[in-house]
Amino acid sequence: MKDILDTFNNQKELFYSAKTKDINFRINNLKKLKKVIKENEDKILDALYKDLRKSNFEGFATEIGIIYSELNLHIKNLRKWSKTEKVKNSIINFPSKSYVYKDPYGVVLIIGPFNYPFQLVISPLIGAISAGNCAIIKPSENTKNTALLLEKIINENFNENFIKVVNPLGGKDVVSYLLNLNFDYIFFTGSVKVGKIVMEKASKNLIPLTLELGGKSPCIIDNSAKLTLAAKRIVWGKFLNAGQTCVAPDYIFVQKDIKDKLLEELKKEILIQFGNNLKSSPDFPRIVNLQSFSRLKNYLKDGDIYFGGNSDENDLYLDPTLLINIKQNSLIMEEEIFGPILPILEYSNLDEVISYVTKKDKPLALYYFSENSSSIERILNLTTSGGVTINDTIIHVASSYLPFGGVGSSGMGSYHGKASFDIFTHKKSVIKRGTFAEFPLRFAPYNNKINLLKKIMK
Ligand code: NAD
Repeated sequence: MKDILDTFNNQKELFYSAKTKDINFRINNLKKLKKVIKENEDKILDALYKDLRKSNFEGFATEIGIIYSELNLHIKNLRKWSKTEKVKNSIINFPSKSYVYKDPYGVVLIIGPFNYPFQLVISPLIGAISAGNCAIIKPSENTKNTALLLEKIINENFNENFIKVVNPLGGKDVVSYLLNLNFDYIFFTGSVKVGKIVMEKASKNLIPLTLELGGKSPCIIDNSAKLTLAAKRIVWGKFLNAGQTCVAPDYIFVQKDIKDKLLEELKKEILIQFGNNLKSSPDFPRIVNLQSFSRLKNYLKDGDIYFGGNSDENDLYLDPTLLINIKQNSLIMEEEIFGPILPILEYSNLDEVISYVTKKDKPLALYYFSENSSSIERILNLTTSGGVTINDTIIHVASSYLPFGGVGSSGMGSYHGKASFDIFTHKKSVIKRGTFAEFPLRFAPYNNKINLLKKIMK
């Protein structure tokens, strides 16, 4: 751990030299990051395949392509975003000029999860660099090929006093050690359970933080929805990364009269996307480890299997599975599923769904399939969630023009695009006071000055 402390102290020193604040330094490093990723694309895809059996298409679309879009946007807009803003002046402070300086926080800590092990540390890193910070990165130890590759490509190409991957295979001991250091900002992506630990630790040093957490994201389908299209988009979003996606539709609420039709369509669509021999599909990833696999298998007893349900422990494989007749108070409806099992519940009218969803923890995402615009507005008005996609799944996360984050127990703070620059930036208020005049109003003795003050401040 001595290494970590040395890096931390050296990064503090570099930060206070103001080198990382230089706009050209930031842009050059973002460009370099893009170049390094381009040069290592095949290795990244290979590591993702080894860790999660992600296909090259999925790996590129969800972990690399999205990073290029972010990098391009930051490189293009950074000069504009980082400009000091001149703002209006309060008459009270005359003579003076007022500004908002875009100050980086300092040395930030980025902690990543296993499910998108490359993208979910690189994306916040882009924000950290863009805003002018130094960063220490701790990838998830559960995806070891990607973690080791990240260590190699970052540490071999960048000054370690600027950005560094530390102990990529270290577990919670390393994270605990890191959380005792007085970082200037913490960006954590992971489970609600660990998020609480991180926030508690951060509170000891009053460290500001972003928590990108998970939860149970509902997917609601009413009888006006275009069912075949809905099924196609749900199957894609749910079974991407074998369901190990923080914004995956966790469970379905379907209007009673179309339930059977939806089930048929979902089944048909699974077979179209992954073939009749599901296990041999080159496009369907695997569960991250045995612990997670066992947890998921246990959920199968919480309902009746309508489709799927086969598994192979040695291969960490679990079918894309549709579960119906969900038992009351079962675990599958209490915990985030984070795997390829889709429970299907039915409802009669929208009020039931709204009441169910609003009694639960605030979800990270909410999906609603409907052609009825007043029902869509009702859902948007009466529910709270980190984000919403209407008539599709996942895609609001993939836009660099939409801030992405949770609310309540699904997290706090949001990033992507300009929001990534903002979240790693402290807006420092600065007044530059003129010295050519002084009005004695504010100084004691006050005598009758309050009358004048009341005229000014009315
Ligand atoms: P996790 O919380 O188990 O691990 C995340 C990180 O925390 C890892 O780097 C791990 O080393 C560290 N960690 C684990 N236990 C710890 C402990 N006791 N003390 C300190 N550090 C600890 O999460 P995971 O299983 O890797 O990822 C899945 C979870 O992440 C899901 O809940 C998912 O919804 C969430 N997630 C959220 C987002 C988002 O953007 N909101 C994205 C991806 C994943």
